[in-house]
Amino acid sequence: MADLAVVGAGIVGLAHALAATRAGLSVVVIDREARANGASIRNFGFVTVTGQGWPDTWRRSRRAREIWAEVAPRAGIPILQRGLFVAARRPDALAVPQRFAEGTMGGGCRILSGDDIPPPFRRDLAGALHSPHELRIEPREAIPRLGARLEAEYGVRFLWRTHVRAIDPPRLDITAGTIRADRIVVCPGNDFLSLYPETIADHAPVRCKLSMLRLASPGWRLPGAVMSDLGLVRYAGYADLPGLDALGPGAGRPARGAAGAASRPCRSPAAYGGRALGDRVGRRTAGPAADDRRGAGAR
Ligand SMILES: Cc1cc2nc3c(=O)[nH]c(=O)nc-3n(C[C@H](O)[C@H](O)[C@H](O)COP(=O)(O)OP(=O)(O)OC[C@H]3O[C@@H](n4cnc5c(N)ncnc54)[C@H](O)[C@@H]3O)c2cc1C
Repeated sequence: MADLAVVGAGIVGLAHALAATRAGLSVVVIDREARANGASIRNFGFVTVTGQGWPDTWRRSRRAREIWAEVAPRAGIPILQRGLFVAARRPDALAVPQRFAEGTMGGGCRILSGDDIPPPFRRDLAGALHSPHELRIEPREAIPRLGARLEAEYGVRFLWRTHVRAIDPPRLDITAGTIRADRIVVCPGNDFLSLYPETIADHAPVRCKLSMLRLASPGWRLPGAVMSDLGLVRYAGYADLPGLDALGPGAGRPARGAAGAASRPCRSPAAYGGRALGDRVGRRTAGPAADDRRGAGAR
C-alpha cells in the first residue's frame, strides 16, 4: 500500500511524484512501457516562460522553471541553454516584443538591436527580444535521470511494463494483479481511452501532431533558444498586445483558437550534434507515428 500511486512516468507523472515525496508521501509510479517513451522524451526540452498566458500559465511556468533549475543539478541533468531570443525579421513585428518588454511579464527582458544581436542572425533581423528566463534540457537524458533520482533519493518505486486497466480507489487493477494506494493520480499523456474515457471526452481533447526536424550541426552554437516572430501569434501572452494584428493570419487567436496548421519556427542547439527545428502543428490530422522520421519524431 502506497500513500500515492501515479499512473504514467512522463514528466507530469514524475512531477506529481516529486511533489508528493517532498510532502513525505510514499509513492509508486506505474507505466506500461519499459521506460518513459511518450511526449516527455520527444520534445524540445524547452522550459518556456516568455509568452505564456497571463496570469496563471505565466505564474506556473515561472514556478516550473524554478523547479527545473533546482532539480536539474541534483539529478545530473545539464542545462544546455539559458534564455530565449524572439527574433523579429520585420520592423512591424518588433512592435509586439517591444510592448511585451514594457509590461509586467517583460521583467528581465530587453530589446536588442544592431550589434547587440548575436552574430549568427544579426544581419537578418530588425531586432530581437531577449529573455533570461528560459532553460533547455535534453529530454531523452533528463527524464530517465529524474526518475533515477526519485528512486535513489526519495525511494519512489517504479513498476514498468505494467498497464493500469482500471481504477476503483483505493485499488488499481494492473497487469500483475491489484495494488492499493490512498491517493491516485492519472497522468496518461495522450491516451484518452484506457482510463476515465468519459471524463476525458467531456473536455473534447483533440490530438495534434508536432513535426520537428533535426539538422546536422553547422559547427557553431546558437547563444540561446530562438523563436521567430511567426511564433508570436501562437502564444497567449502576446495576444492582447498592439501590433499583433499586423503579423498576418491567425494573429490575435493564439493556441486554442487556431485550427488546421500553424507554424512556430523555433530552433535550439541539440545535445546530439544538431539543431531541432520546428515545429509545425497539425490539429486535425491523426498523422504518422511519433517515431516516423518524416513526421513527429524526426527531431
Ligand atoms: C514534438 C513535441 C515538442 C514539444 N516541446 C515541448 C517543449 O519544448 N516544452 C514543453 O514544456 N513541452 C513540450 N511539448 C509538450 C510536452 O512534451 C508534453 O506536454 C508532456 O511531455 C506531456 O507529458 P505527460 O507526462 O502528460 O505524457 P507522456 O510523456 O506521454 O507520458 C504518459 C505516460 O503514461 C503512460 N500511460 C498511459 N496510460 C497508461 C496506463 N493505463 N497504464 C500505464 N501507463 C500508462 C504512457 O506509457 C506514458 O509513458 C512538446 C511535445 C511534442 C510532441
